[in-house]
Amino acid sequence: MLLVNFLAVLASVSTAWLVPVHEQDLIRFGVLAVCAAAAIEATRHIERQREYNRAPTVAYVDTKAVWSIAAVVALPAVLATAMVLFTYAMAWWRVWPRERPVLPHRWIFSAATVLCGTQAAVAVLALGMHHYPGVPATGFLPGFTDLLVIVFACALRWAINTALVMVAIALSSPPRSLSELFSGFGDQLLEAGAIGLGLVTAVLLLLANPLVLTGVVVALVALHRGLLLAQFQRDARTDVTTGLATKRWWRTLAEQYLERARTGNGTVGVLLLDLDHFKAINDTYGHPTGDVVLREIAIALRSEVREQDVCGRWGGEEFAIVLPNVATMEHLGQLADRIRRRIPQVVVPLPERDTVISDLTVSIGCALYPAEHLTGVDDVLVATDTALYRAKQAGRNRVELATH
Ligand code: GH3
Ligand code: MG
Ligand code: MG
Repeated sequence: MLLVNFLAVLASVSTAWLVPVHEQDLIRFGVLAVCAAAAIEATRHIERQREYNRAPTVAYVDTKAVWSIAAVVALPAVLATAMVLFTYAMAWWRVWPRERPVLPHRWIFSAATVLCGTQAAVAVLALGMHHYPGVPATGFLPGFTDLLVIVFACALRWAINTALVMVAIALSSPPRSLSELFSGFGDQLLEAGAIGLGLVTAVLLLLANPLVLTGVVVALVALHRGLLLAQFQRDARTDVTTGLATKRWWRTLAEQYLERARTGNGTVGVLLLDLDHFKAINDTYGHPTGDVVLREIAIALRSEVREQDVCGRWGGEEFAIVLPNVATMEHLGQLADRIRRRIPQVVVPLPERDTVISDLTVSIGCALYPAEHLTGVDDVLVATDTALYRAKQAGRNRVELATH
């Protein structure tokens, strides 16, 4: 982190002398800063929620780039640097008032990664554009070349910034897999949108009445409300403790699978799982440790089923799995038994107690659709629940098949 911070200062100082600053640049910087402040202020509650819900292994992306991209294209390098510092300071001050004293190093590092990328972009623009700083030249070919240079500069800024952040994440909270590190990559679309809007903002700043920029602020605020909607939808579908489908989302998907089986002569297997004597885990190690165990169980369950099978958290320590196209009850029973045998292999280390939690067991009830008396999801679930009850009665750590 210190190395990146040092590089950011070094690069920012060396580009600062590239272009002299005129009075008009300062006025334009002021207009951009007012718009940036208004946008950050108007979206700060939404940003706080987004950051709060972010997984620690996913890079946090927002729309501050609109203002710093506009500045890097339209203003002298030193003002582009100032815009990065201004937007980050503003976000630090307004988005995180409570955590502010705790995490300044993180914010400083984020700003430093953006500064490194920004100075690289400055170098590309200064070398490649017909008039730097400024909008693309007029005329088809000169304008097109300038646009290509800007696209390259923005891509470089993004690549440097993202690479530095990802290395920092990989080092500080190592993800389980490469795919986890890239799991929030869809959010990068937002960054691309912010960069595109930044270019438009630069042109408006230089060529239009500055009041037009209020349009950009309104667009950004509206965009953020849309972002939150996607977030709420994701939250409604994913259980926070285990990362599995919520009960409601699991039901919706199970209903879809059943409907498809009904119309297409397919089959659907459903498993209901209940961990054995789980209360003892909570009583011995505490509820938070119990939650960690649930998360590890969820990971094990997911690793034992196919991509199209859906694992859901049915209740406290109960899980439901829907498996389309399982040929026979015998096959479903074998599958369930494989899952049953997998659970005791789950190991949860407890370093502070110098021990591990292992040898967990699970009881499983299974039902296969279609079958007589099974008309919908509710019937199937009653059947699996009855089978599960029998598994518990028969001594736990076993699989029972529904008898119709
Ligand atoms: P068995 O199923 O074998 O009959 O015994 P059990 O002890 O597992 O009993 P039951 O299935 O009724 O489990 C309920 C226990 O699960 C009570 C509670 O301690 C625990 N539990 C339920 N929800 C959660 C949760 O969200 N987190 C944690 N840590 N524990 C939970
Ligand atoms: Mg239970
Ligand atoms: Mg239980």
